[in-house]
Amino acid sequence: MPIKVLNAKTASKIAAGEVIIDPMAVVKELLENSIDANSTIIDINIENGGKDRILVADNGYGIPYEDVALAFKRHATSKISKLEDLTSLGTLGFRGEALASIGAISKVTMKTQFHLEEIGALVDVVDDNIEIKENSFKTGTTVVIKDLFYNTPARLKHLKKSSELTKEIIGIVQNIALSHPEISFSLYCDGELVLKTPGDNQLINSLYTLYGKDITNNLMKINYNNLPLSITGFIGKPEYVKSTRQYQYVTINKRFIQDNKIKKAIEEAYENTIMINKHPIFFIDINIPFDMLDVNIHPAKTKIRILNESLILLLIKDAIRKNIREKTIVKEITMNKPKLIINDKEMIQEKISITSEIVEKPIEKVNELEPPYELDKEQKNDTNMNKYKSEVGIKELFVNAKIIGQIFNTYIIYEGLDYILMIDQHAAHERIIFEELHHKYKTGEKTLQQVFPYNLQLSPKNYQVLINEKQLFEKLGFEYDEFGNNTICLRSVPILFNIPQDHNLLISILEEIQDKIDKTNSKILIDKIILVACKKAVKGNKKMQSIEIEQLIHQLSLCEYPLSCPHGRPTVMKMTQYEFEKQFKRIQ
Ligand code: ADP
Ligand code: MG
Repeated sequence: MPIKVLNAKTASKIAAGEVIIDPMAVVKELLENSIDANSTIIDINIENGGKDRILVADNGYGIPYEDVALAFKRHATSKISKLEDLTSLGTLGFRGEALASIGAISKVTMKTQFHLEEIGALVDVVDDNIEIKENSFKTGTTVVIKDLFYNTPARLKHLKKSSELTKEIIGIVQNIALSHPEISFSLYCDGELVLKTPGDNQLINSLYTLYGKDITNNLMKINYNNLPLSITGFIGKPEYVKSTRQYQYVTINKRFIQDNKIKKAIEEAYENTIMINKHPIFFIDINIPFDMLDVNIHPAKTKIRILNESLILLLIKDAIRKNIREKTIVKEITMNKPKLIINDKEMIQEKISITSEIVEKPIEKVNELEPPYELDKEQKNDTNMNKYKSEVGIKELFVNAKIIGQIFNTYIIYEGLDYILMIDQHAAHERIIFEELHHKYKTGEKTLQQVFPYNLQLSPKNYQVLINEKQLFEKLGFEYDEFGNNTICLRSVPILFNIPQDHNLLISILEEIQDKIDKTNSKILIDKIILVACKKAVKGNKKMQSIEIEQLIHQLSLCEYPLSCPHGRPTVMKMTQYEFEKQFKRIQ
């Protein structure tokens, strides 16, 4: 075929395919336009996964009557006028392609009225024909897209099932709603309200309506400022992790982006506070000066290039780490007010259910936070938070506290001025050994070793593991020579928390890492080995002398994350005298 310039109609359909690949892309572009128009309320209505109908209605400033026709022309935009504008761009759109593209592959109706004009425009677009009539509306814009891809059958044929498309649309609306808590979004799918955000500019409240109480109760506020970078939003408590990355949400300058490097940096900041293979949750906005960004590298604009990226990643990691350390607070036990004392009649009823009510509830209620509407208020009050900063906090908690004793051979009780502290000695031990081994592994500092020669015969696989990972084991304090014939001569093992170990420690480690060894990288392997070592080194159910208890608390207070064990369980809990008195009904 000879080379020919495509006619405009064909070219526009092809170009449209680059921006508008599915109903979700239509919703995204229309929402971005509504946001750029300073809307405060946006309603979205979709039918049949968006294939039949997509409606987006906003109360933004609308389009001037004279400009309406232009809005549907390719490369027509009110947002930039020259290339340099891209470097200072504050709007989501800028290519001037969306409306033209959507118009090329669907039937579009638009009602719009500009805020400074008395009359609005009713627009019909079918197949490049644009018809505009005068009409009177409220200020704002409503766009209705019908029969998406009706004239590009190939694209239509390859669309996913409606239920899938609906799910994708819910996802994108959720994402966009989270980056704009100042806007109230409502989404209806086939007539049913699927989500509605309050639009009160409180991210925590948007999160609450989208994800519920469980997630919002487990968030810590972040407000970090270190030029050129600032971070705002919420990050999950280390003890609240997920097995997927579904709840990791990052915007840069309020623009939703897909950036695995940033997510990875944040996950690294959680290192040693959460379990391996679990993922923290976070919902944050990172503010970076526009001149350090290039937003124009991806058609859907969900990728971004950051200049000086490695510095920015470092700062992000540092910010998150600091926040985890500062905001991790001692767990405080508070109990639900038992409903027992309301009146006699209820008391009788209560007695019937007393076992389930009274026995189960208080345990569940450990550290339950206020409902999210108040959580925000509380977390804003930073002086209140300072009191609990873990670094100072844990030492302070124990300063004037005295040992009461040990109970169940497992927990240690301390009495402070107006509170008691309960320490899970096993969890505390694990935290101390975990950090100690990690530190030694990282710095190459020599581990105290128990030295002895011991000949150990192993399975061929385990023997191979020890040969392959010799350096790694050596750093942890295991030294050995290979004798061949699946036998090693073990020369030394680490002394963990003053407890000398023997060859059984190595055997336990080998047993536990056996099936993971082929699949994991050395970082995960190290964590795994250290975790096994911790588990083995710590004796549960162990009577402890006062001097041992004091030593344990001292070492715990030196830890970077003293308040949880490596699996995220608490090491220390606190209960105030006030809470005691409340429970014993001395006060109401
Ligand atoms: P872009 O958003 O890249 O500028 P679009 O094709 O999406 O390009 O929109 C073209 C123009 O139409 C925008 O620049 C804007 O001026 C106007 N426009 C589109 N949608 C709206 C809306 N909901 N409210 C106000 N103006 C709008
Ligand atoms: Mg746009």
